[in-house]
Amino acid sequence: MLDFLEVSTGFIELSKQRKAPYSEEWTELPNKVKLRYRERGILEISPALPSNKDFVISCGVHGNETAPIEITSNLISQIVKGVVEPKVNLLFILGNPESMLIADRFVSINMNRLFNGAFKKYEKNEETRYELERAEQLEQYVTEFFSAREDGSKTHLDLHTAIKPSYHKTFAIRPYNTTSVTDDSRRLLVNLGIEAVLQHNKPSTTFSAFSVEQFQAEAYTLELGKVKPFGENKIEDFQKAINCLDILVQDRSLANLEIEELIEYKVVAEIIKHSEAFKFNVPDDVENFTPYPQGFLIAEDENYNYRVAFQEEGVVFPNRNVPVGQRVAVMVARKE
Ligand SMILES: [Zn+2]
Repeated sequence: MLDFLEVSTGFIELSKQRKAPYSEEWTELPNKVKLRYRERGILEISPALPSNKDFVISCGVHGNETAPIEITSNLISQIVKGVVEPKVNLLFILGNPESMLIADRFVSINMNRLFNGAFKKYEKNEETRYELERAEQLEQYVTEFFSAREDGSKTHLDLHTAIKPSYHKTFAIRPYNTTSVTDDSRRLLVNLGIEAVLQHNKPSTTFSAFSVEQFQAEAYTLELGKVKPFGENKIEDFQKAINCLDILVQDRSLANLEIEELIEYKVVAEIIKHSEAFKFNVPDDVENFTPYPQGFLIAEDENYNYRVAFQEEGVVFPNRNVPVGQRVAVMVARKE
C-alpha cells in the first residue's frame, strides 16, 4: 500500500482497484505517523502525538471532478513520503471511485443527495445499489472517525469542482446550521481561496450536511473551480486551496488575510415550478450568483410571479427542466 501512496497519483490508482489491501491494522511511517487503508478510497491517518482536531477531507463524491481528487492524492503522497507531517487526525475519502472510472458525475444517482439517511428512501436494485450502499458506507466511516474523540474540533471539507460557470469562480456552501459563520471560519475560507459563501437555510442531504447534522462539525461543500478531465487541471488555479490544506494538516496558523473580502449570501427564496405554465426568465447558461436587479421578473406561473425583492438577488443552481412541484432555482442576497 505504501509503495502505491508514495506516488502523487497513488491514492487515485489505489481507489480504482475494486479489490485492494484493506486493513484495520495501522502501518507506521518512520516519523511515527500511522495510517490505515480501511476501504476502497477511505484512508485514515493518525499523527505521532495525540490531537483533538479531526478533519474529514473528501473529494470525488462526483467522480468526474478531478482537481480535488488530484489535490487529495498528492497531499497523501506528501504525507507518506514524510514531506508533510500531519499533526491532526485525518480521514481522507475518495467518494465515488466507480464514477471516477467512467469519468462521470455518478453511476446512477447523484450521491451528494443521498446523505443524512436519504439513501434509505430509494429502491435498491442492480442499477442503484452502488451509490446507495456507498453513501451508507461513507456515513459509517465518518461516524466512527468523529465519534472516536468526544471533544475537540471537527471539520469536514468536501471538495468539488463545478460544470456550470459561476459569477464567483470559487464558492462554499455552508449547510444549514444552528451556528453562524465565525471569523475563524471566514479566515479558513479566504485562505482556501473561496470568494463567496452561501449559508443554506434548511436541512439537506449533502455529505457536508451530514457532518453538520450528526456531529455539529464545521463543514462545507467547496466549489474550487471548473471541471476538467484528469491531466488538464492547472495547479496554479488551485494553489490557495492546496497551500491551505497543507497548513491545516500540519496544524500551522492560517495567514491573517482580509476576511472582509469574503462575500456572504443568504437564501431569500426558492423558485418552485407550480404548473406547466411556468416560465423562467433566466437564460439556461446563466452563471451561478449572477445578480438581478430589484423588480426583475424572474419567474411567472399560474397565479404566481417572482420579482427580485432585495436590491440585488443572485440565481443559484438554476434548472428549468424539473417536474412540476420541484425546485427550479434558489434566490440569494448578500448579507449586510
Ligand atoms: Zn460536485
